[in-house]
Amino acid sequence: MRAPTVAVISMGGTIACAPSADGAGLVPRINAADTSPVNGVEVRSVPWSLTDSSEISFDEIVRLAREVREQTDRGADAVVITQGTDTLEETAYALSLLRPLDTPVVFTAAMRAPSAPGSDAAANLQAAISAALDPELTYATSGAVVLMNDQIHSAKWVQKTHTHRVDAFRSVGRSDLGVIHEGRATLLRCDPAPALPALLDSDRGDAVRVALLTAVLDQDTDLIHAVARCGYQGLVVEGLGGGHVSGAVAEALGELARDIPVVYASRTRAGAVLEKTYGSPGAELDLIGRGCIPSGQLTALKARVLLTLLLRSGHPRDKAEALLMAEGAAGDG
Ligand code: GLU
Repeated sequence: MRAPTVAVISMGGTIACAPSADGAGLVPRINAADTSPVNGVEVRSVPWSLTDSSEISFDEIVRLAREVREQTDRGADAVVITQGTDTLEETAYALSLLRPLDTPVVFTAAMRAPSAPGSDAAANLQAAISAALDPELTYATSGAVVLMNDQIHSAKWVQKTHTHRVDAFRSVGRSDLGVIHEGRATLLRCDPAPALPALLDSDRGDAVRVALLTAVLDQDTDLIHAVARCGYQGLVVEGLGGGHVSGAVAEALGELARDIPVVYASRTRAGAVLEKTYGSPGAELDLIGRGCIPSGQLTALKARVLLTLLLRSGHPRDKAEALLMAEGAAGDG
């Protein structure tokens, strides 16, 4: 019997870092797939880039999704993607919305570089490879998952919640999708079927920019007016608490919402935003009345990724907003 083949696409980040030649700190220099052999598996190493994850663009994620499909067309049984942890919650969600395959793609990364004591790089990569080959994962979800620290997270719910701990990744507000136990994936729950069509084939590569602003104490409206001047096609506001802003900010958002989609999320990053409780100026009833739309259970980061990909796919505004609200409402939280 032939050994299963897993394509490991390596995109830099800590898992690919080594001390720089000039001693100026860790930099991505190695191919993550080459860092540790995995028994009984043919690892097809796909060097993609050696960058920090802050450099990844939506165009690149779309190219990456096409590469995932290409790798399986060329006989890979599963695909693992490695990258930096900093934008992992966004890229994995983007890939899960593009959904290049019927089977899930597994993302992994490391909080400690391969050269650091107690590095999680090899353990995460090996666990990601076994999870990617596990048929149970295919039944539990589609799109993409994130595997870190022996925990499997749905791309939709995972967040990086700490600057340096190895357990920085959490499925906030719900249980993990699964765990790795004695080298095998054990699935703890299933994700509901996606509320959205796969967005890869409809992606038109349009240059779409969606801004993200956080609501704060004593906020002025200058940056909100700047969003229109700068030509953004959408705005996500990370609101206070249940998704609130001040009355003056709500007025500025309402003006903007006449021209572009404006989504309100919550800076608490846990729980669904409110839609029908508070009636003060700037609270959710006011925002909805002014044409802003709720992100539901999506964090602002996820809502921005979703709105960007929907607009890149040429969805008219009302369709994009309806799909965003359906995706924000869907789930087990
Ligand atoms: N800041 C780097 C990145 O996101 C390293 C972070 C990491 O991989 O943990 O690529």
